[in-house]
Amino acid sequence: MTSAKAPSATMTRAVITGPKQIRMEQLTVPTPEPNQVLVRVRAAALCTWEQRTFAGIDTFSYPLVGGHENSGIVEAIGKDVEVKIAVGDQVALAGLKRCGQCYSCRSGIDNLCDNARSKRVPEVPWGPGGFGDYVLAEGYQVFKVGPVATPLEAALTEPLSCVLHDMKRHPVRNGDVVVIVGAGIMGLLHLVVARQTPSFIIVSEPEAARREKARELGADAVIDPTTEDYGARVTELSVGRGANVTYMSIGIPKAIEAAVGAAAKHGVVTVYASVHPKTSTITLDPNVFHYKEIILSGSLAQNPDDFKAAAELIGNRKIDLRPLISATYPLSRLADAFEAALRKDFYRVLVQPDAEFRSEQQRGKTAPERT
Ligand SMILES: [Zn+2]
Ligand SMILES: [Zn+2]
Repeated sequence: MTSAKAPSATMTRAVITGPKQIRMEQLTVPTPEPNQVLVRVRAAALCTWEQRTFAGIDTFSYPLVGGHENSGIVEAIGKDVEVKIAVGDQVALAGLKRCGQCYSCRSGIDNLCDNARSKRVPEVPWGPGGFGDYVLAEGYQVFKVGPVATPLEAALTEPLSCVLHDMKRHPVRNGDVVVIVGAGIMGLLHLVVARQTPSFIIVSEPEAARREKARELGADAVIDPTTEDYGARVTELSVGRGANVTYMSIGIPKAIEAAVGAAAKHGVVTVYASVHPKTSTITLDPNVFHYKEIILSGSLAQNPDDFKAAAELIGNRKIDLRPLISATYPLSRLADAFEAALRKDFYRVLVQPDAEFRSEQQRGKTAPERT
């Protein structure tokens, strides 16, 4: 095993034990088994899953150690790890488990692995682990992120990889009319990537602050679906053509119906977000598929090549995600961070291990950037 130094004997992690309940736990820093890598966490973002679990909307994950959007520093490398990393490298972790043996994994669609769910022992905390000082990961889950990126940017590798996966399946072509429905972080990540291809980009979003942010990040036009007729506006802005590709970054059945209605001939509508409740249905005129060759599709998570691409874009700051980082909190204030994440004018809120704040200050270095 390769290791920088003997890790401190104990670590802290935050366990979400129930609605609005967080327990801080002390435990021994683990040692990597063969094929595992020990990562010292530097930042972890609060995503929808963790937010819904903390709020008590989803109750199936307790007790959860969240933090699947994370970055850190390689602390120790177990034997037989083949991925090209060294102790001290900045990395991001692809939390999704892959068995490598099921039909999906063997067909190159390992994001849909049949065995992706972690085996859980009742009452035993589980989860991706970014809300803690250290995480043990399998070698295949570890991706190097260049040092140009701050730990906060590096922690956005996972969400960007999911967006790149969606846009790999449903690409923007030169001259397309693109519509992004929802200007939360996922919609804005689609916007930042779509902007790299010459196209006309429309963002539909009910919150004024988010429409403004979309404008700042390069949207050509915005729609307020609460006061404007979505379909009529898309038709008008596209001079009658309709949308060539529509990214649904919010899961609202009526909005999906409207997007299909406003799609161009041969247009694609991709459902990127989950729709709640899970029993939701949509109603469509099936003739649009025959007469207009419209494709209604979707995407989930990412493949390793998407994660690699996201790490490359962020690690060299080929795209700048700093405008999407709204606030950071020490891990001990995770509950406050969850409250902040609810703000409509906030995009990503992150937590950072407290020990790091202390040690950075003790060494007289500048504290990690905070806004
Ligand atoms: Zn996420
Ligand atoms: Zn599998």
